[in-house]
Amino acid sequence: MVRRKFIAGNWKMNTSRAEGVALASALAAKVGSSSSVDVAVCPPSVYLDAVGQAIKNSAVGLGAQNCYHEAKGAFTGEISPQMVRDLGCAYVILGHSERRQIFKESNQEVNRKVLAVLGAGLTPIVCVGESLDHRQAGQTAAVVREQIEGSLAGLSADQMLKIVIAYEPIWAIGTGVVATPQQAEDVHSDLRRLLETRYNSQVASTVQIQYGGSVNAENAATLLSQPNIDGALVGGASLKADGFLAIVAAAQSK
Ligand code: PEP
Repeated sequence: MVRRKFIAGNWKMNTSRAEGVALASALAAKVGSSSSVDVAVCPPSVYLDAVGQAIKNSAVGLGAQNCYHEAKGAFTGEISPQMVRDLGCAYVILGHSERRQIFKESNQEVNRKVLAVLGAGLTPIVCVGESLDHRQAGQTAAVVREQIEGSLAGLSADQMLKIVIAYEPIWAIGTGVVATPQQAEDVHSDLRRLLETRYNSQVASTVQIQYGGSVNAENAATLLSQPNIDGALVGGASLKADGFLAIVAAAQSK
Protein backbone atom coordinates (compact mmCIF):
# COMPACT_ATOMS: atom_id res chain seq x y z
CA MET A 1 0.00 0.00 0.00
CA VAL A 2 1.54 3.31 -1.06
CA ARG A 3 0.08 6.06 1.08
CA ARG A 4 0.16 9.62 -0.24
CA LYS A 5 2.01 12.08 1.95
CA PHE A 6 -0.16 14.84 3.40
CA ILE A 7 1.21 18.22 4.49
CA ALA A 8 -1.29 20.46 6.29
CA GLY A 9 -0.71 23.93 7.71
CA ASN A 10 -2.41 24.83 10.97
CA TRP A 11 -2.35 28.63 11.06
CA LYS A 12 -3.94 28.71 14.54
CA MET A 13 -5.12 32.23 15.53
CA ASN A 14 -2.70 34.01 13.20
CA THR A 15 -2.65 36.26 10.12
CA SER A 16 -4.85 39.15 9.10
CA ARG A 17 -7.27 38.55 6.26
CA ALA A 18 -4.87 40.18 3.77
CA GLU A 19 -1.88 38.18 5.07
CA GLY A 20 -3.84 34.94 4.91
CA VAL A 21 -4.96 35.58 1.34
CA ALA A 22 -1.41 36.51 0.29
CA LEU A 23 0.02 33.36 1.92
CA ALA A 24 -2.64 31.12 0.37
CA SER A 25 -2.18 32.72 -3.05
CA ALA A 26 1.58 32.13 -2.91
CA LEU A 27 1.01 28.46 -2.02
CA ALA A 28 -1.59 27.99 -4.74
CA ALA A 29 0.68 29.55 -7.36
CA LYS A 30 3.57 27.23 -6.47
CA VAL A 31 1.63 23.99 -5.88
CA GLY A 32 -0.45 24.47 -9.03
CA SER A 33 -3.41 22.40 -10.08
CA SER A 34 -2.01 18.98 -9.29
CA SER A 35 0.38 17.59 -6.72
CA SER A 36 1.84 14.19 -5.92
CA VAL A 37 1.19 14.87 -2.22
CA ASP A 38 -1.91 16.12 -0.43
CA VAL A 39 -1.58 19.74 0.71
CA ALA A 40 -4.00 21.77 2.84
CA VAL A 41 -4.18 24.99 4.80
CA CYS A 42 -6.30 25.51 7.90
CA PRO A 43 -6.78 29.25 8.44
CA PRO A 44 -8.85 30.86 11.20
CA SER A 45 -12.52 30.16 10.48
CA VAL A 46 -13.34 33.81 9.76
CA TYR A 47 -10.90 33.69 6.82
CA LEU A 48 -11.98 30.34 5.38
CA ASP A 49 -14.05 32.00 2.67
CA ALA A 50 -11.34 34.41 1.53
CA VAL A 51 -8.58 31.79 1.69
CA GLY A 52 -10.84 29.31 -0.12
CA GLN A 53 -11.19 31.81 -2.97
CA ALA A 54 -7.42 32.27 -3.11
CA ILE A 55 -6.71 28.53 -3.48
CA LYS A 56 -9.63 27.80 -5.80
CA ASN A 57 -8.43 25.92 -8.91
CA SER A 58 -5.28 24.76 -7.12
CA ALA A 59 -4.45 21.43 -5.49
CA VAL A 60 -4.26 23.11 -2.09
CA GLY A 61 -7.15 21.93 0.06
CA LEU A 62 -8.98 23.86 2.77
CA GLY A 63 -9.46 22.80 6.37
CA ALA A 64 -11.04 24.24 9.50
CA GLN A 65 -9.24 24.14 12.85
CA ASN A 66 -12.29 23.03 14.82
CA CYS A 67 -16.07 22.86 14.67
CA TYR A 68 -19.02 21.91 16.86
CA HIS A 69 -20.75 18.54 16.72
CA GLU A 70 -24.27 19.85 16.02
CA ALA A 71 -25.47 20.82 12.54
CA LYS A 72 -27.34 23.98 13.60
CA GLY A 73 -29.25 25.58 16.42
CA ALA A 74 -28.83 27.62 19.58
CA PHE A 75 -25.07 27.22 20.10
CA THR A 76 -23.85 30.82 20.23
CA GLY A 77 -20.37 31.27 18.87
CA GLU A 78 -20.02 27.80 17.36
CA ILE A 79 -19.74 26.71 13.74
CA SER A 80 -21.00 23.43 12.31
CA PRO A 81 -19.39 20.89 9.97
CA GLN A 82 -22.02 21.81 7.39
CA MET A 83 -21.02 25.48 7.60
CA VAL A 84 -17.34 24.83 7.00
CA ARG A 85 -18.23 22.44 4.18
CA ASP A 86 -20.33 25.23 2.68
CA LEU A 87 -17.16 27.35 2.59
CA GLY A 88 -15.26 24.67 0.67
CA CYS A 89 -13.52 22.80 3.49
CA ALA A 90 -12.50 19.22 2.94
CA TYR A 91 -10.84 18.77 6.36
CA VAL A 92 -11.40 19.66 10.01
CA ILE A 93 -8.64 19.42 12.63
CA LEU A 94 -10.11 17.86 15.78
CA GLY A 95 -8.70 17.22 19.22
CA HIS A 96 -5.66 19.46 18.81
CA SER A 97 -3.77 19.55 22.11
CA GLU A 98 -4.53 23.27 22.43
CA ARG A 99 -8.25 22.44 22.29
CA ARG A 100 -7.78 19.59 24.73
CA GLN A 101 -5.67 21.61 27.19
CA ILE A 102 -6.95 25.19 26.97
CA PHE A 103 -10.59 24.46 26.12
CA LYS A 104 -10.80 21.22 28.12
CA GLU A 105 -12.09 19.12 25.23
CA SER A 106 -12.48 15.51 26.30
CA ASN A 107 -12.06 12.41 24.17
CA GLN A 108 -15.84 12.06 24.31
CA GLU A 109 -16.37 15.52 22.84
CA VAL A 110 -13.73 14.91 20.18
CA ASN A 111 -15.56 11.67 19.35
CA ARG A 112 -18.87 13.51 18.87
CA LYS A 113 -17.13 15.97 16.57
CA VAL A 114 -15.42 13.21 14.58
CA LEU A 115 -18.78 11.53 13.94
CA ALA A 116 -20.41 14.83 12.99
CA VAL A 117 -17.58 15.77 10.62
CA LEU A 118 -17.69 12.35 8.94
CA GLY A 119 -21.47 12.69 8.70
CA ALA A 120 -20.99 15.93 6.79
CA GLY A 121 -18.70 14.18 4.33
CA LEU A 122 -15.51 15.85 5.55
CA THR A 123 -12.20 14.34 6.63
CA PRO A 124 -11.30 14.75 10.31
CA ILE A 125 -7.61 15.19 11.14
CA VAL A 126 -7.63 13.74 14.64
CA CYS A 127 -4.75 14.81 16.90
CA VAL A 128 -3.28 12.70 19.68
CA GLY A 129 -0.10 13.05 21.69
CA GLU A 130 1.45 12.81 25.11
CA SER A 131 2.77 15.46 27.51
CA LEU A 132 6.41 15.57 28.56
CA ASP A 133 5.46 14.13 31.96
CA HIS A 134 3.73 11.21 30.31
CA ARG A 135 6.73 10.55 28.05
CA GLN A 136 9.17 10.72 30.93
CA ALA A 137 6.98 8.32 32.92
CA GLY A 138 7.03 5.83 30.02
CA GLN A 139 3.29 6.30 29.41
CA THR A 140 3.38 7.51 25.79
CA ALA A 141 1.87 4.37 24.25
CA ALA A 142 -0.87 4.12 26.90
CA VAL A 143 -1.87 7.80 26.60
CA VAL A 144 -2.00 7.74 22.82
CA ARG A 145 -3.97 4.48 22.85
CA GLU A 146 -6.53 5.94 25.28
CA GLN A 147 -6.93 9.04 23.11
CA ILE A 148 -7.42 6.93 19.98
CA GLU A 149 -9.89 4.60 21.66
CA GLY A 150 -11.87 7.50 23.15
CA SER A 151 -11.76 9.91 20.22
CA LEU A 152 -12.52 7.25 17.63
CA ALA A 153 -15.01 5.19 19.64
CA GLY A 154 -17.74 3.53 17.63
CA LEU A 155 -16.26 4.13 14.20
CA SER A 156 -16.71 1.41 11.60
CA ALA A 157 -13.79 0.26 9.47
CA ASP A 158 -15.29 2.21 6.54
CA GLN A 159 -15.43 5.38 8.64
CA MET A 160 -11.91 4.78 9.88
CA LEU A 161 -10.66 4.73 6.29
CA LYS A 162 -11.81 8.37 6.03
CA ILE A 163 -9.79 9.55 9.06
CA VAL A 164 -6.37 11.18 9.15
CA ILE A 165 -4.45 10.83 12.43
CA ALA A 166 -1.90 13.42 13.54
CA TYR A 167 0.57 12.30 16.20
CA GLU A 168 1.56 15.50 17.96
CA PRO A 169 3.62 15.13 21.14
CA ILE A 170 2.65 18.14 23.24
CA TRP A 171 6.25 18.81 24.25
CA ALA A 172 7.17 19.29 20.59
CA ILE A 173 4.37 21.71 19.65
CA GLY A 174 5.59 25.26 19.19
CA THR A 175 8.71 24.56 21.26
CA GLY A 176 11.34 24.06 18.58
CA VAL A 177 12.01 20.65 20.18
CA VAL A 178 11.17 18.16 17.47
CA ALA A 179 10.73 14.45 18.15
CA THR A 180 13.58 12.43 16.71
CA PRO A 181 12.58 10.51 13.59
CA GLN A 182 12.88 7.30 15.65
CA GLN A 183 10.70 8.61 18.51
CA ALA A 184 8.01 9.60 16.02
CA GLU A 185 8.33 6.40 13.98
CA ASP A 186 7.96 4.29 17.13
CA VAL A 187 4.61 5.90 17.98
CA HIS A 188 3.41 5.81 14.36
CA SER A 189 4.13 2.10 14.05
CA ASP A 190 2.39 1.51 17.42
CA LEU A 191 -0.62 3.39 16.05
CA ARG A 192 -0.65 1.25 12.93
CA ARG A 193 -0.55 -1.91 15.06
CA LEU A 194 -3.45 -0.55 17.12
CA LEU A 195 -5.47 0.05 13.94
CA GLU A 196 -4.73 -3.49 12.81
CA THR A 197 -5.94 -4.91 16.14
CA ARG A 198 -9.03 -2.71 16.35
CA TYR A 199 -9.94 -2.95 12.66
CA ASN A 200 -7.98 -4.85 10.04
CA SER A 201 -4.84 -4.75 7.94
CA GLN A 202 -6.49 -2.67 5.22
CA VAL A 203 -7.31 0.10 7.69
CA ALA A 204 -3.86 -0.16 9.26
CA SER A 205 -2.08 0.18 5.94
CA THR A 206 -4.36 2.86 4.45
CA VAL A 207 -4.81 5.51 7.15
CA GLN A 208 -2.49 8.51 6.76
CA ILE A 209 -0.66 9.30 9.99
CA GLN A 210 0.94 12.74 10.12
CA TYR A 211 3.58 13.85 12.58
CA GLY A 212 3.26 17.33 14.11
CA GLY A 213 5.50 19.28 16.45
CA SER A 214 8.14 21.81 15.35
CA VAL A 215 8.37 20.47 11.80
CA ASN A 216 10.31 22.85 9.57
CA ALA A 217 12.17 22.98 6.26
CA GLU A 218 15.33 21.60 7.87
CA ASN A 219 13.94 18.56 9.71
CA ALA A 220 11.06 17.56 7.40
CA ALA A 221 12.99 15.30 5.04
CA THR A 222 14.32 12.92 7.70
CA LEU A 223 10.97 12.69 9.48
CA LEU A 224 9.17 12.04 6.19
CA SER A 225 11.66 9.29 5.32
CA GLN A 226 10.31 7.10 8.13
CA PRO A 227 8.13 4.29 6.78
CA ASN A 228 5.09 5.09 8.92
CA ILE A 229 5.21 8.90 8.79
CA ASP A 230 2.84 9.97 6.04
CA GLY A 231 3.12 13.70 6.30
CA ALA A 232 3.12 16.59 8.70
CA LEU A 233 0.75 18.88 10.50
CA VAL A 234 2.71 22.12 10.59
CA GLY A 235 2.05 25.07 12.88
CA GLY A 236 4.63 27.87 13.03
CA ALA A 237 6.44 26.93 9.82
CA SER A 238 3.18 27.05 7.84
CA LEU A 239 2.92 30.82 8.25
CA LYS A 240 5.65 31.60 5.70
CA ALA A 241 5.14 30.43 2.13
CA ASP A 242 8.78 29.52 1.52
CA GLY A 243 9.11 27.42 4.66
CA PHE A 244 5.85 25.58 4.09
CA LEU A 245 6.62 24.99 0.41
CA ALA A 246 10.02 23.53 1.37
CA ILE A 247 8.20 20.99 3.57
CA VAL A 248 5.82 20.20 0.68
CA ALA A 249 8.85 19.76 -1.61
CA ALA A 250 10.47 17.40 0.93
CA ALA A 251 7.29 15.30 0.88
CA GLN A 252 7.16 15.34 -2.92
CA SER A 253 10.71 14.02 -3.12
CA LYS A 254 9.90 10.93 -1.02
C1 PEP B 1 0.53 22.31 15.67
O1 PEP B 1 0.07 23.19 16.36
O2 PEP B 1 -0.23 21.47 15.17
C2 PEP B 1 1.97 22.26 15.48
C3 PEP B 1 2.50 21.14 15.09
O3 PEP B 1 2.67 23.42 15.76
P1 PEP B 1 4.24 23.67 15.51
O4 PEP B 1 4.56 23.16 14.12
O5 PEP B 1 4.40 25.16 15.61
O6 PEP B 1 4.98 22.93 16.55
